[in-house]
Amino acid sequence: MQNFVVAIMPFYGFNVLDALVLNLGAVQRGLGRSAYFRVYEALENRYPGGQVDRFEIPNEEVVGYLGEEVYRKLGEDGLAEVETYVTDKDVIIGRTSPPRFLEEISEFGVVKEKRRESSIKVRKGKPGWVDKVLITEAEGGNRLAKVKVRSEMIPEPGDKFSSKHGQKGVVGAIVPEADMPFTAYGLKPDLILNPHSIPSRMTIGHLLEMLTGKAAALKAEVMDGTPFNEVSIEEVRKILKAYGFRPDGKEVFYDGISGEKIEGEIFTGVIAYRRLYHMVAHKIQARARGPVQILTRQPTEGKEKEGGLRFGEMEGETLIGHGAAILLHEKFLEDADKVVELVCENCGVIAINDKIRNRKYCPICKGSKVYPVEMSYGFKLLLDELKALGIYPKLVLADKV
Ligand SMILES: [Zn+2]
Repeated sequence: MQNFVVAIMPFYGFNVLDALVLNLGAVQRGLGRSAYFRVYEALENRYPGGQVDRFEIPNEEVVGYLGEEVYRKLGEDGLAEVETYVTDKDVIIGRTSPPRFLEEISEFGVVKEKRRESSIKVRKGKPGWVDKVLITEAEGGNRLAKVKVRSEMIPEPGDKFSSKHGQKGVVGAIVPEADMPFTAYGLKPDLILNPHSIPSRMTIGHLLEMLTGKAAALKAEVMDGTPFNEVSIEEVRKILKAYGFRPDGKEVFYDGISGEKIEGEIFTGVIAYRRLYHMVAHKIQARARGPVQILTRQPTEGKEKEGGLRFGEMEGETLIGHGAAILLHEKFLEDADKVVELVCENCGVIAINDKIRNRKYCPICKGSKVYPVEMSYGFKLLLDELKALGIYPKLVLADKV
């Protein structure tokens, strides 16, 4: 929660539809900055046979060794040092585990234990400083390590801010201080709010807080903002007037880009804003090709699984409506689950492609009159499921137009 100097005015379309405009100068001075914490945990498991996991810096002999670079943030105990900067390329809890199967006995009759790498890395896109490192005991007496990583979140376009009155919005632009509108006193707002956010929502408290905040800032005094005591608006107006401001809170502004006077007075005041949890840095995602589901071979969904953005039935329908056949083909086949299957001309079933014996034949008539057909894997799966139900789906081949 921080007090922002807010002006209620449009700004070159950058604050339409509940978007907010921030002052870059204010952001660089620390406005709206917050910390994001994430805790990573790892256990030293005990296995039957007396073998244990170990927190340590893995050496080259460990199976799955990630390279010296990756472990350079670790201290002697295998845990990252406090206040070091770590990214997704760094291990923060170094750990090795015993081999899954006992290795065969070497010629000297000793079992050479080859340990496995099982370290914990920083999550992708969540770099930060190691804030705290803790070793404790988990249930069952195993050693438990916890490492807390602190990320500094600097406001950027797409981050969410709100006042106490539910006037929430997303940053649409962070404008250089020189381009911000200014008053005759040279004051520039920290945040510009769109006037359309006010009448329909009737958040009178927002306006009252701005006005009272302005008076309190001028007087350098704390004023009561709770609904339990009446703060007379007349009193607030008197204070503003006494300090040479208009009692209605409006001020004349000059355009920071053209330097021209802006027509109409602009309501300006001081109000508490808070940063909300939703931040673009945690949501931004893009993929070209990537992981697919094993059953359908279609791209996975969701950010955690590096998924694609769904181009659904309704979106496909719009392409049909526009007659965009090639784009439709691209979105539903090329970008999704395209396969080329062999189909028997006589029986209309998917044929067998025996790559070892280099033979292509039909599973029913054993004939070799089979032809490649482009289809979606989802359709091939449907054919398989119908066959499993005892239904014979027959494809009729025609010449490709
Ligand atoms: Zn056949």
